[in-house]
Amino acid sequence: MICQNCGSQIADGLNFCTECGKPIVSQSVSSEPSKNEVDEYFKKLNYEKEYAKEASVSHSVSVDKQRKRAEASATSSIVMGALGFFMSALIIPGLILGIISIVKAVNSKKAGYKGKSGTIGLILGILSTLIGVLMFILTIYYTVTG
Ligand SMILES: [Zn+2]
Repeated sequence: MICQNCGSQIADGLNFCTECGKPIVSQSVSSEPSKNEVDEYFKKLNYEKEYAKEASVSHSVSVDKQRKRAEASATSSIVMGALGFFMSALIIPGLILGIISIVKAVNSKKAGYKGKSGTIGLILGILSTLIGVLMFILTIYYTVTG
């Protein structure tokens, strides 16, 4: 190392200069961050920013997905309910489709879907289930009495 007082080249690790006898001031203590530390800091900051952006994007995607699923559930509830309604004369398919329709409509409402199709699906589901039950009772009644 070099003595800060006289500028002569001296051995490392000495407390006093061998040329001028002045105490050696340590140069390694510095309050300023090194370039490497600054780079690391900005890298980390940038990473956190990117991460936050990604997290918010994936959050809105999942909300959108959930909404679409609820909507699809309500739509299939209508289809199942309508099918069940037309098949209710066959009793068992009418009952099964009616119950599926009710479950799907309830699921879509639970998922927060507020559209009319959920309610329509629910009504169709209940109707086809009720008609299925009614047909079942009538069939048994006519079988027993007939
Ligand atoms: Zn010196």
